[in-house]
Amino acid sequence: MPTVNAYAAPSATEPLIPTTIERRDVGPRDVRIDIKYAGICHSDIHTVRGEWGPIQYPQVVGHEIVGLVAEVGSEVTRYSVGDRVGVGCMVNSCGECKNCLAGEEQYCQKGNIQTYAGVDPADGTITQGGYSSEVVVTEAFVLSIPEGLDFAAAAPLLCAGITTYSPLHHWKVGPGTRVAVVGMGGLGHLGVKIAHAMGAEVTVLSQTLSKQEDGLKFGADHYYATGDPKTFDELKNSFDVILNTVSAKLDVDAYLSLLDLDGTMVNVGAPAEPLPMHVFTLFGARRSFAGSSIGGIRETQEMLDFCAEHGILPETELIGASDINDAYERVLKSDVRYRFVIDAATFDN
Ligand SMILES: [Zn+2]
Ligand SMILES: [Zn+2]
Repeated sequence: MPTVNAYAAPSATEPLIPTTIERRDVGPRDVRIDIKYAGICHSDIHTVRGEWGPIQYPQVVGHEIVGLVAEVGSEVTRYSVGDRVGVGCMVNSCGECKNCLAGEEQYCQKGNIQTYAGVDPADGTITQGGYSSEVVVTEAFVLSIPEGLDFAAAAPLLCAGITTYSPLHHWKVGPGTRVAVVGMGGLGHLGVKIAHAMGAEVTVLSQTLSKQEDGLKFGADHYYATGDPKTFDELKNSFDVILNTVSAKLDVDAYLSLLDLDGTMVNVGAPAEPLPMHVFTLFGARRSFAGSSIGGIRETQEMLDFCAEHGILPETELIGASDINDAYERVLKSDVRYRFVIDAATFDN
């Protein structure tokens, strides 16, 4: 098995360190990818620190991966050596259940195989993510990165992009839809760009007005501070869709009351604690409280093509591998506009 360079967490409490890991030999349907860039997602931090449950160490994370095809198996038909490709949050699923057959592999009834900290059904090993110089992935879970998308900046589309695109698409956001995006971080800033490109009227609800200039530049029509209590009075019954990207606890009833008749508040942020809510707030305007997880492979490709067509890219800060631990601290302080991307050339120890 090939040995490749990587950055791994040795335990829940230690910084990430350079190391090597083994990748599986390329099987008939596998694609070996020479990784060029990997985005840093808040989920990476939760996972390596054991905040979403115990994991095995050492663990390599990263599920916003772009690179060039270096080798293909004998039965691979969609990709050739040199193609620009990406890998997101999952690398396999059962392929047979109702949801997989519908192209909703993220909701595989047997559980999709996560890009990192999952169990690879092929050999029982723990999957290792994109903070690495190479990865081997089955063809069906490899995405094509359109030529029009800047390679480094495209990486965060593989998680943050599809996480925001999928619910906007599912709840039929388009011209005439009034969308509120809660939170202006890695997810939120992409939610604004994508909802705007879909033709919606977009409002940002952020704690303060500190990122207002950016929000308006990204396509928001309005920008409000949720720290100002007047905001919730002024915007009552104003939205069809609220996309909540915040992973902290918030006053759900206050946000639900901003939905107009038949409006939906969809959650893509993942707070650790339960979110209490009064059902009466739903009764008030036949409102829905919903959740959404990434997107299927077909939809992820559609999102990448949509972003290429509309010139949508995440705002990114490129770093080297030795900056990862500092970058984690900055992510936790929301001190990044708006996503870190690691240059995979720096994994060469
Ligand atoms: Zn992610
Ligand atoms: Zn399945």
